[in-house]
Amino acid sequence: QSLLGRIDALDGELNSFITITAEQALADADRADQARAKGEAGPLTGLPLALKDIFCTEGVKTTCGSRMLDNFISPYDATVVEKLKHAGTVCLGKTNMDEFAMGSSNENSFYGPVKNPWDLTAVPGGSSGGSAAAVAAGLVPAALGTDTGGSIRQPASFCGITGLKPTYGRVSRYGIIAYASSLDQAGPMARTAEDCAWLLGAIAGHDLRDSTSVARGVPDYREELGASLSGLKIGLPKEYFGDGLDPNVEAAVREAVRVYESLGATVREVSLPHTHHAIPAYYVIAPAEASSNLSRYDGVRFGHRCDNPKDLIDLYERTRAEGFGEEVKRRILIGTHTLSEGFFDAYYKKAQQVRRLIRQDFLDAFEDVDVLMGPASPTPAFDLGAKKDPVSMYLQDIYTIAINLAGIPGISIPAGLAGSRPIGLQILGPYFAEPQLLNIAHQFQ
Ligand code: GLN
Repeated sequence: QSLLGRIDALDGELNSFITITAEQALADADRADQARAKGEAGPLTGLPLALKDIFCTEGVKTTCGSRMLDNFISPYDATVVEKLKHAGTVCLGKTNMDEFAMGSSNENSFYGPVKNPWDLTAVPGGSSGGSAAAVAAGLVPAALGTDTGGSIRQPASFCGITGLKPTYGRVSRYGIIAYASSLDQAGPMARTAEDCAWLLGAIAGHDLRDSTSVARGVPDYREELGASLSGLKIGLPKEYFGDGLDPNVEAAVREAVRVYESLGATVREVSLPHTHHAIPAYYVIAPAEASSNLSRYDGVRFGHRCDNPKDLIDLYERTRAEGFGEEVKRRILIGTHTLSEGFFDAYYKKAQQVRRLIRQDFLDAFEDVDVLMGPASPTPAFDLGAKKDPVSMYLQDIYTIAINLAGIPGISIPAGLAGSRPIGLQILGPYFAEPQLLNIAHQFQ
């Protein structure tokens, strides 16, 4: 009730929620109280949280930030939602996001931009901007986001919270509205690594309904918290400290690395030589997958439908013209182009080859070091409306995107301020190194 009051008082300005499920939340909270009274409560029973509006929630509007799904009420729960309900958590609502998770500022939402609680003239980052802002403003202690090319880590960094993108396959994608299926991964956004550890434990695991989810046991992610960092080998990828990196961000990241040295870690420079190919490769692969995934919004099965279609083609054309925003249309056009005959080999296939090289860069680096550290984003949060040109927005993703192409885990943690705007330190590890990443993050906090 107290958080619902806070949302009521503050979210008119922040716009971090698309849907608030107050009635259901209060009923779930009552159930949690009863479970506690009967001694049946688990560690997360009664925990209030919010879900990015990309997660299907039974009986609740699930928009993905798009006019296309403005009227869509999901008939089922995503696996992670089911798991969180099972753990007794109380969902307060669905958070704002860039349309179909395409964006780095939350300005591509049909429901309007979200404001950064640290500075109302700044963006919260994207695409999980609503989840990041809601946690940062204390509207919820934790939220879920998704990360296809940085959408958990970059908004976490802009909003001064902790956000973890797990290893691809660690968390089921069933019931998460697909953007780029080979890159999408859900993860926790919260104040601390410890909170993220609790949440990851609740959502991770194999799911027969997602063929890319990995059949591997789920550890207790809190077990490693506090383990000594003495002898930890940290690599600083030199490509992550080059041109375009804001000096305040660089200073904060280097200062954080010094803290780890004082905890017994050793530091060396490493190279990820194909880094500069990551953005071009991603912006071929992600739009290609998106154009295929978004073909299901045809005005027939669900979502928006135009008025009085003349015939089937008119139905498709007007429904999609009306339902999708500018950025989504741009990506569909790029994706259908790069997948079309005559261009497939030159773009899509080439991008997939580059993707393998990028993955190999990380595998090579992890031969020499345990983890990599660098900035989550080249700058602190930028002003609302500052990046009008799509390419300048895409360049925002320079330090986050390669991680999704490789499928490795990454976490962003608060590492200082530039004026009133937070700076995020990003820590990357080998596949399934989430326990180590959480421990390393935890010891900075
Ligand atoms: N900013 C990137 C994009 O627009 C990443 C988004 C994401 O991770 N969902 O595609």
